Amino acid sequence: MSALRLPPLPSVRNIIKMYRLQAVKQLSQNFLLDENITNKIVKYVGKVPNSEVLEVGAGPGAITRSILRRLPKKLVIVEKDKRFKPTLEMLQEAYKTVNGKVDIFYDDILSVDTKSLFSAENARDWEDDCPPIYIVGNLPFSISTVLIIKWLHAMSEQRGAWAHGRVKMTLTFQKEVADRLVAEVEQPHRCRLSVMAQAFTTPKLRFIIPGEAFVPKPDVDVGVVTFVPLERPRTRHEFKLFEKITRHMFSFKQKRCIKCARTLFPKVSQILMADELFDMANVDPNVKATYLSVEDINRITTAYKSLCEKYPEIVGYNYRASRRVITRKDTKSVSIQDYDEE
Ligand code: SAM
Repeated sequence: MSALRLPPLPSVRNIIKMYRLQAVKQLSQNFLLDENITNKIVKYVGKVPNSEVLEVGAGPGAITRSILRRLPKKLVIVEKDKRFKPTLEMLQEAYKTVNGKVDIFYDDILSVDTKSLFSAENARDWEDDCPPIYIVGNLPFSISTVLIIKWLHAMSEQRGAWAHGRVKMTLTFQKEVADRLVAEVEQPHRCRLSVMAQAFTTPKLRFIIPGEAFVPKPDVDVGVVTFVPLERPRTRHEFKLFEKITRHMFSFKQKRCIKCARTLFPKVSQILMADELFDMANVDPNVKATYLSVEDINRITTAYKSLCEKYPEIVGYNYRASRRVITRKDTKSVSIQDYDEE
């Protein structure tokens, strides 16, 4: 492993003290200070020397230092909190002394066009090996689920960073979310996130970082997950349609999946329609959703599309809206999240 000694810099712990960088709860700031842990995260990133790396939420820069020591050709940082400007610029200057390049954007990663962050010269065809372009981040808990769904969507359409090929990601999640992302069929954590992540990538839970390793200490442990985009995704359906079907199939995790599927159809015809759906898809209607493979849900999506062509009136049916009408009576509105995640 090639490694670089950066010019002498104050420790991350001292930088936090010097600049009074107290963690902001709204930005889910929990900092890593242990170099052994940040080096271990970066070990999973990929072949960093000479590559282009995007780090999401660099904060005071402990992971950033571990990345720079591995000599990427270019490091791009997207950090929302401008208080980190002096510390990140210190690293930028230090890397310049060895002719390295660090680009810093003070922005919200959810609104950044990730395609423009990387150069076309490193792009690869989708069927080729993964390009020397990597994404890494100790993600803020508050956006990690939204971000991974957004990026899986982009990946499914080979947009954003994935316009450059099968860009690998190494990201952190609350342990329970990490468990869900990698949960296989029949495992208790299996949910919408598992199916979506596994339809488009091979997600692997690499190791757990105990909560004690962070400052301030979060209430939970953290899992480091790598995602390698699949050369052939396990569904070819449009992302939003596949995601909708997956979400409905996991609407009641303890019930038979056919009961969940009924939420796709207007009340008056839902029993007949759901029966027809499962017949067409050739999926056992009596199992719980945790028993469904990505391929099962893919076939259910195909069957749903056929039913939409046969009965166009079901296309716009919205279970959430129909529930809202019912629950408004007792002035309580129900969000899709209420029956989406366990
Ligand atoms: N990488 C640092 C570390 O490991 O010590 C900090 C990790 S901290 C869990 C998350 C970082 O993401 C914070 O620096 C926070 O300011 C930043 N952040 C929060 N929301 C963000 C967003 N929407 N876009 C970009 N950065 C964000």
